[in-house]
Formats: sequence, structure tokens, C-alpha cells
Amino acid sequence: MNFKDEIVIVTGSTRGIGREIAESFAKEGASVIIIGRNVDLAQATQEELIRQGYRADHFCCDVTNGQNVQEVVNKILDKHKRIDILVNNAGITKDNLLLRMSESDWNDVLNVNLRGVFNFTKAVSKAMLKAKKGKIISIASIIGITGNIGQANYAASKAGIIGFTKSVAREMASRGITVNALAPGYIETDMTAQLKDTTRQEILKNIPLGRLGTPSDVIGVCLFLASQEADYITGQTIVVDGGMAI
Ligand code: NAP
Repeated sequence: MNFKDEIVIVTGSTRGIGREIAESFAKEGASVIIIGRNVDLAQATQEELIRQGYRADHFCCDVTNGQNVQEVVNKILDKHKRIDILVNNAGITKDNLLLRMSESDWNDVLNVNLRGVFNFTKAVSKAMLKAKKGKIISIASIIGITGNIGQANYAASKAGIIGFTKSVAREMASRGITVNALAPGYIETDMTAQLKDTTRQEILKNIPLGRLGTPSDVIGVCLFLASQEADYITGQTIVVDGGMAI
């Protein structure tokens, strides 16, 4: 797939799935904008991509802060003139059973995972609508479809992304902008490194393909949804879960 000279924002691209998504777009010729809260990590990620001969920039931004997000998007537009693709990837977990879940753990997860998607999508939408061009992909989760014990906040945030995606896809379709979501199963990153061994064994029993995914398992679908080949696909959630939710 060719993304030569496309401007691609990937939120939460300092680590994990987001970092691999950013690198994959860069390998296909895109100019990628790294977004994270940690300035050193964001800068190091940009420098590493440039060292490999790719085009990259970075901006430090907390996706939960709408004003901060709009300022960063304005700076990106000033510098790069347009935004072709947005990947809403930043996300966190704060797991607990409902009875033990604090209001702050609920708020934190909803703020990063759902408000963050709202903030970035809204901030880029004006430029995309004006250009009559754009692809928006948000990383949901299989948990937003199946639910999971101990993840009421996370599941609600990811189910929220799926409903948000369908609505915004309808709003933006007349301008040729597509809006889709991707729902990974369990993927090997810092997020799943926290899983206890017993939990990991239980999870594996429920994955027909017999292994956790890797970030590279997710990338193909993300690049496809951002490509011209997917111009007639909008409002969809594509599951990449090794068969977990069959
Ligand atoms: P990860 O390794 O923990 O990385 C999360 C990324 O999000 C980091 O770059 C982090 O950067 C950034 N981030 C967190 N809070 C942020 C905020 N407030 N503002 C800006 N950036 C923020 O996570 P991952 O496993 O790659 O997950 C990536 C996405 O995939 C998430 O949406 C997650 O829910 C989803 N997902 C993951 C799995 C899985 O099994 N791993 C499965 C399904 C879905 P800083 O900390 O530097 O800010």
C-alpha cells in the first residue's frame, strides 16, 4: 500500500500497537506524526523513525484535554498543511470488579479511551471536511463487543468508540471521509504484560488460533482501512482477535 506524502496522525504512538502502526505508515511513504504524553519518548520515537530514513514529526499531547488537542492539531495543520489520516490509538486500562471500581478509575479510562477519540476526531474533522478527504480509524477492542469481568470501564469506553464510529461515519460520508474502528483481541504489549500467568493461560484457552496477537497482526487491517482499497467501507468495526469472539 502506498501512503507517499500522506500526513498521518497516530495517537499513543510512543509504544505498543500505536508505535508499530506509525512505523508501518512511515515505511509506506507517509509522514507520521507521533503523539504521546511523554515528551522524551515521543521525541525518541520520531528520531528513531528518521534514523531509519522515514519521515516523522512529534507533538506532546494529552488526548483527554480538548484544548491541548485542538492546539496541537492547529500546529500540525500550520506545519504540514493537511491531515489525511487519523488513527485514534491512545488507550489505558484500570481494571477492577465493578464493586471495587473507583469513580476516578472509571473517569480515567473513559477520558483517555473515549473522550480522547472525540477530542482528536473533532479537532481534525474541520480540515478533513474542507478537503473532502480523510480516513479516521479508532482502535476499539474485542472487549467492547463481548464485555469482560473486571473491565466495565474499558468495555464501556470501547463499545462507546464503536457507536461513535457509526455516527461520525454517517455524518462525514457525504464528504468522502470514512470512519472505521478496529477491535483487536489480546495483543502482546506493555498493556498485556501486566496479565498474571494464570490469567494468560485462561485467555489462551479461548483463542482458537492458540496465541496472543502481536502488534503486527493489527497493522494490516489498519493500513487497509486507511487505503484507497477501503474507500467504500465506513462505520465498520473489524475484529482481529485470533477467533476469540467467534
Ligand atoms: P500501550 O502499550 O500501553 O501504549 C499506550 C499508548 O497510549 C502509549 O503510547 C501512551 O503514551 C499512550 N497514551 C496513554 N494515555 C494517553 C493520553 N492521555 N494521551 C496521549 N497518549 C496517551 O497500549 P497498547 O497495548 O499498544 O494499546 C494501544 C490501543 O490498543 C489502546 O487503545 C488499547 O486499548 C487497544 N487495545 C489493546 C489491546 C492489547 O491487548 N494490547 C487489545 C485491544 C485493544 P504515553 O504513556 O507516553 O503518553
